[in-house]
Amino acid sequence: KHGLANGEFIFYIQPQVFEKTGQIMGGEALVRWQHDGHLISPGRFIPVLEKTGYICAVDCFVWQSVAQWLRDLLDRGITPVPVSVNVSRVDIFDYDLVDHMKGLIREFDLSPDEFLLEITESAYTQDSAQIINTVNALREAGFHIEIDDFGSGYSSLNMISTLPMDALKLDMEFMHNAFKERKNTKMLDAVIDIAYSLEVPTIAEGVETAEQMFALKEMGCDIVQGFYFSRPLPPEAFERF
Ligand code: C2E
Ligand code: MG
Ligand code: MG
Repeated sequence: KHGLANGEFIFYIQPQVFEKTGQIMGGEALVRWQHDGHLISPGRFIPVLEKTGYICAVDCFVWQSVAQWLRDLLDRGITPVPVSVNVSRVDIFDYDLVDHMKGLIREFDLSPDEFLLEITESAYTQDSAQIINTVNALREAGFHIEIDDFGSGYSSLNMISTLPMDALKLDMEFMHNAFKERKNTKMLDAVIDIAYSLEVPTIAEGVETAEQMFALKEMGCDIVQGFYFSRPLPPEAFERF
């Protein structure tokens, strides 16, 4: 509560790049907590916020800040790339997410297809019916949904064809493992192929080396995101990038 009231939560943006052209086609907003002179990573506080229910307040704050930033860019005559925000499964169960998102877009006069929503794969493993209903309603309202961290949990191939989605984000570990063992390389390649044949674009996260980038390109992965291109940046630095 104090952190929110004191403006200690900020967001960084990490660029996403089209494999084919090298163009920046989007960015992912990632929350940071500036506390006592330290910049704390979400891996350390998100699980606590999810357990205590405070995640909704922080997520709403991050989405609002991102929407405000996009509006500010538009007002300055800059056309921003689409930005993805992270949605916790708690957000789907605690309040009317669809209504909230529609209101946010209206408030800042944005288009829903400039504001992509990432929902982690593991969110779908429990109460999947309610999640699918919410996702369908969001898509009907014009939002684009990306499945985050695919390959990290109980991913089934069935998920790719049955879940409503606009893009599949491959889990970082899943991708890194593909470069350690040949059989994992084939798994990654097969998942990208299946997504491709179902016309679902794939995004690879955690791309750190040229070797990974070229191999992913070879496999037909559409979009890459990772330290190889850029770390997550403060919004002003992202604008320059
Ligand atoms: P995520 O959504 O899968 O985000 C990708 C994470 O991978 C980010 O960590 C990013 O900094 C990191 N990353 C990107 N490229 C590389 C790379 O080349 N190498 C390595 N080693 N790491 C890379 P970050 O920012 O620490 O976020 C961790 C997780 O916290 C996110 O994973 C997401 O699940 C969650 N998160 C972040 N921001 C928010 C938010 O605003 N709301 C919610 N609910 N969750 C958030
Ligand atoms: Mg994400
Ligand atoms: Mg991810």
